[in-house]
Amino acid sequence: MTEGIDKVVLITGASSGIGEAAARELAATGARLFIGARRGDRLRALAAELGDTVGWRELDVTNGTDFERFVEAAAARFGGIDVLVNNAGVMPLSPLAARKQDEWKRMIDVNVGGVLNGIAAVLPRFLEQKRGHVVNVASVAAHMVMPTAAVYCATKHAVRVITEGLRQEQDKIRTTLISPGVVATELGHDITDPDVATALTGWRRKSLTPDAIARAIRYAIEQPEGIDINEVIVRPVAAD
Ligand code: NDP
Repeated sequence: MTEGIDKVVLITGASSGIGEAAARELAATGARLFIGARRGDRLRALAAELGDTVGWRELDVTNGTDFERFVEAAAARFGGIDVLVNNAGVMPLSPLAARKQDEWKRMIDVNVGGVLNGIAAVLPRFLEQKRGHVVNVASVAAHMVMPTAAVYCATKHAVRVITEGLRQEQDKIRTTLISPGVVATELGHDITDPDVATALTGWRRKSLTPDAIARAIRYAIEQPEGIDINEVIVRPVAAD
């Protein structure tokens, strides 16, 4: 049986994949959720399905003001905030020689800028209440690099370093890095290089479903206040 979580949890990128699965997993524990992403139609449908304990707002994590309003709306709805899950991310992979600078910039803006905007938006509140929890969804790409993924890996390395930096600076704020291996989601649907898109299909032959990552997020959040799960790496293994 699922233990109850008496917390207010904000989740970015909850319109699909891991963020949506995390919303389902946490809603089942009784946690109050505020979910964000750009596709409001999907958020509205998910919130309607999960019930009154779930609020939503359209959010572009690359916009710091938008993120502050998202946090304010969540606090107004539920009277406070306990956890921010920075999950939104994009992965338009390509070789560096293809010089897809717009795609590099988008990865940096969403994957790194979005996490920083989230930290900036919740930090004053967390410092004032002398507690809080930032859960950043990075990747095994935070620990390695591979061809066509240099920029994506760089953004996830940055998320790992920022998470550790926050941990070292703030001893009353919990920080967790969730590093998934391959998960079958919409991630990479915007890859414009046909060879890389084909390769991604091959990598996904051995993949996790998003609920596996959602359970890791729940595990970090449900720990007693004095315990901080700093990193969880979750990879698939072959079924047989
Ligand atoms: P999805 O593509 O299914 O989900 C990505 C989410 O990010 C969507 O909800 C999307 O919502 C949101 N998003 C993208 N850009 C923005 C933006 N500018 N502002 C707000 N939200 C945004 O992929 P996953 O669920 O797989 O990805 C979730 C996280 O997990 C990412 O950080 C990804 O890097 C990481 N990850 C995924 C792995 C995998 O194999 N799938 C492996 C390792 C890590 P919308 O478009 O509605 O804004």
